Amino acid sequence: MKLHSTRGASPLVSFREAVARGLAPDGGLYMPTKLPALPADFWSELRGKSVPEIASSLLNELIGDEFTSEFLDELSQTAFNFDAPVVALDDRTGVLELFHGPTLAFKDFGARFMARVMPECKTSTNGRPLTILTATSGDTGAAVAQGFHQIEGIRAFILYPKGKVSPLQERQFATLGDNITAVEVDGTFDDCQRMVKEVFAREDLNTNYNLTSANSINIARLLPQMIYYVSSWAKLTWEKPFRKVTFVVPSGNFGNLTAGMMVAQMGLPNVQFIASTNANDVVPKYLEGNKFTPRASVATISNAMDVGNPSNFDRMVALYGGNEVALRGALKGDRVTDKRTREVIREVFAAHAYVADPHTATGIEVWNRFRDYERYRNTYGVVLATAHPAKFIEVMEEEIPGKTTIPHRLEALRNRQVVSIPVASKSDALIEML
Ligand SMILES: *Cc1c(COP(=O)(O)O)cnc(C)c1O
Repeated sequence: MKLHSTRGASPLVSFREAVARGLAPDGGLYMPTKLPALPADFWSELRGKSVPEIASSLLNELIGDEFTSEFLDELSQTAFNFDAPVVALDDRTGVLELFHGPTLAFKDFGARFMARVMPECKTSTNGRPLTILTATSGDTGAAVAQGFHQIEGIRAFILYPKGKVSPLQERQFATLGDNITAVEVDGTFDDCQRMVKEVFAREDLNTNYNLTSANSINIARLLPQMIYYVSSWAKLTWEKPFRKVTFVVPSGNFGNLTAGMMVAQMGLPNVQFIASTNANDVVPKYLEGNKFTPRASVATISNAMDVGNPSNFDRMVALYGGNEVALRGALKGDRVTDKRTREVIREVFAAHAYVADPHTATGIEVWNRFRDYERYRNTYGVVLATAHPAKFIEVMEEEIPGKTTIPHRLEALRNRQVVSIPVASKSDALIEML
């Protein structure tokens, strides 16, 4: 795979180099220059296959020129060793549960893949460990911390906005110790993301500390996120071969959705996409015909989507060759208020006895608004359930008390001590810590 920068001012690189670098030297994001176009029978042959089998076929097509198929098979077996079932709500709606991994959120797919490819892509030249820097609004930090915990030769710094992640999320990344350091930033998620970007922009620090990113800006996050679009499609079209699928994706930084649109461009048949957001709706605004206008994020109950300047926006535009009319034609989106999200949690439980977390609830709501429009009427809606409801237990208990089961994995975190280093929202503070 060859990749270019979305800003167009950096040399082409291999997948390995793109993973090692994170951000391109011109400050842009890496995108494959050309995605493989796969024929109809490639996709139909995936029907009935398991998630690791599908992962392995897809990864071989994408990066088989840089890794052996033995490595990719082995990686697929170990990284994606948990289920991603589609649970039916009604005759036209399924929920794709992406929260059966170790941190109970879809980011486990990206983090578990990355923890396994990173040591292959980047080697330290000065004997110092690789340093992972990642900004999180909650779930990324948990997935990265768990994914990289105790991996030799790597240390990770997790930056998160003070008071803006749930206590449970914080415990998932700030109680591990060892090679994982939690950094509590006196600011917003956007501040955390800016600090990381500023540090990465310093070539000297990159070299000295073998810096590398695990954010959704790293291309290694996107490839594994293609897998479950294909596995759910394969399952649903196994039942009904000509079924058309509309994926509804609760979005913040838009990495999840970008991965879906990438796999669609590779030829996955009969799929469409809708984005749901909370009040942080710069992308829905754009899709409605307005200029793309990033702004400061606002706090909501679906806090993993509190992003005011979604970093993957440039990638989505790049996927359509800069043709914004085409992008607006292909993708629709809508926002959901916290008040409505809470109502949806209650309604979905009353109607289907299904417990949807606040992020997933925005997707269900947007699907219900759009499902009877002409272009979706003959499609089956697959709402991506991005997190387990137990991760947002405070909200769940307010709306449907006593209905959320707490997985054992979360229960065990309750008594663990949070250890984090407080810093101001300036990159200097971060540099000093390195
Ligand atoms: C990260 C996250 C999202 C948003 O995903 P993006 O790829 O940033 O758009 C949605 N829901 C949950 C639970 C998340 O953790």
